[in-house]
Amino acid sequence: MDISIVIPLLNEEESLPELAAWIERVVAANQYSYEIIMIDDGSTDGSWNVIQQLRKSNSNIKGIKFQRNYGKSAALNEGFKAAQGDVVITMDADMQDSPDEIPELRNLIIRDGYDLVSGWKKKRYDNTLTKNMPSKLFNAAARSMSKIKLHDFNCGLKSYRKNVVKSIEVYGEMHRYVPVLAKWSGFKKIGEKVVEHRARKYGVTKFGWSRFVNGFLDLMTIFFVGKFGKRPMHFFGLWGTIFFLFGFGLFSYLSVSKFFFDKTGLTQRPLFFFAILAMIIGTQLFLAGFIGELISRNSSERNNYLIEEKAGI
Ligand code: UDP
Ligand code: MG
Repeated sequence: MDISIVIPLLNEEESLPELAAWIERVVAANQYSYEIIMIDDGSTDGSWNVIQQLRKSNSNIKGIKFQRNYGKSAALNEGFKAAQGDVVITMDADMQDSPDEIPELRNLIIRDGYDLVSGWKKKRYDNTLTKNMPSKLFNAAARSMSKIKLHDFNCGLKSYRKNVVKSIEVYGEMHRYVPVLAKWSGFKKIGEKVVEHRARKYGVTKFGWSRFVNGFLDLMTIFFVGKFGKRPMHFFGLWGTIFFLFGFGLFSYLSVSKFFFDKTGLTQRPLFFFAILAMIIGTQLFLAGFIGELISRNSSERNNYLIEEKAGI
């Protein structure tokens, strides 16, 4: 199969027929063998009925319906599991992404050997104040932390080589960082393509202001997990030791000065409380690192290597 088009959707009943028709036009023009996987992420409108209607006239359209709303990441993850095409293309259901980009996105994978190509909404048709500005900031932060040169991490329109989507797990709200997940799995050729962006025709956006708060918190998580996820003690142990030694040093100094020089009570000196606090924080950090190690030791993913090739095995 040439392409799988994965579409996560939440309450997008008005857009779906137009979107499906447009995709069908594009794939027919290019004679691709394809499937369209629509993942209904717990819609409360008629989206699922629309999907079933669409299926009647085109059996290449497939559907998955969640029992409730789990989020875009979960929907993508489920779509990735089901996808069979050599190239997997994700797009939003709201018709802000243009299906006309599909052939070139596929070519970049097949012809130019990219593992992942992310869309770049260079000219955006969204509200400038609430979306475009924070998004610039967000992308700059993601770029500098992940060292991946993308302008638009969160673009819904992306294409992947099949083994990329089979190697990564998108969870929580990590759909904003799929390129980072791919990089962790060892896929190096990550590119971008300027794509046409359109104003939302039907329905409303599903992410409000919270997207930026959550996005930045997730960025911290991803940075931390990427760096220390498999060796928590290297982070907590280091800082625990620094804090503890600092506190212990201070405490020793205070003790010596009390017993040999001035006779002021230890608890009379503010520094004493700093020393105690530093030692407690240090111990806490150390214990956190220890527990982290015990957890990662038991994690089912501790030895999840991706083997690229084998010779003679
Ligand atoms: N979406 C989803 N589950 C959610 C939220 C959104 O599947 O919990 C889908 C939504 O239907 C759309 C895509 O994710 O197809 C992008 O959402 P939206 O257009 O609201 O985001 P924006 O374009 O405003 O960033
Ligand atoms: Mg949208």
